[in-house]
Amino acid sequence: MVEDDQVVRSALIRYLSQEAHGVRSVGTALEALREVAQHPFDVVILDLGLPDLDGGEALKMLRGISDVPVIIATARDDEAEVVRLLNAGADDYVTKPFSGEHLGARMSAVLRRSRGRAAGDVLQVGGLRIDTRRREADLDGAPLNLTRREFDLLAFLASRAGGVVPRREILAEVWGQAYGDDQTIDVHLSWLRRKLGETARQPRYLHTVRGVGVRLEPPA
Ligand code: CA
Repeated sequence: MVEDDQVVRSALIRYLSQEAHGVRSVGTALEALREVAQHPFDVVILDLGLPDLDGGEALKMLRGISDVPVIIATARDDEAEVVRLLNAGADDYVTKPFSGEHLGARMSAVLRRSRGRAAGDVLQVGGLRIDTRRREADLDGAPLNLTRREFDLLAFLASRAGGVVPRREILAEVWGQAYGDDQTIDVHLSWLRRKLGETARQPRYLHTVRGVGVRLEPPA
């Protein structure tokens, strides 16, 4: 938990401890980055109003070193800001003031998603092999070096291989969002294509169906 307000911090730690969560807490972004670099956490709760770094900056730096799920705690009820942070890699957000129960429910949902993603099986589409338990993917036997989002996107499309997956469903499943702009998906698709050695103009596995969604299928 990254929170500089002692009162908020103590109350949340008390609640989360009662719910049998182990909590480490710090009051600055730099301490948080150090902690995340050193320990494997299940989830990070990140206050946006920290004394040393802007929350958006903190999130960006955190994402540079870890794929850990992040829930933003914000005092600003600003939809544009929230969308920006979700696109920058936050998994969910809570608006202050929030109760321990509310945070607990959001945490459970985020943990369910990240564990659900980790609990699957091996998916095979042509020469593409995706091990969702170990979170590893390879193409024709060569390992693919994917970011967490790229992996989730590929695994989700592979789980629906052969069918067109609507963009709305991709946003909901991979980003946990009911809304967002298409660019988010397009950017990740283009990175994924590069790693698969293909382009939008000459697709092999990843086919964009204009105005509808994306289809993953083995090359003809
Ligand atoms: Ca604060």
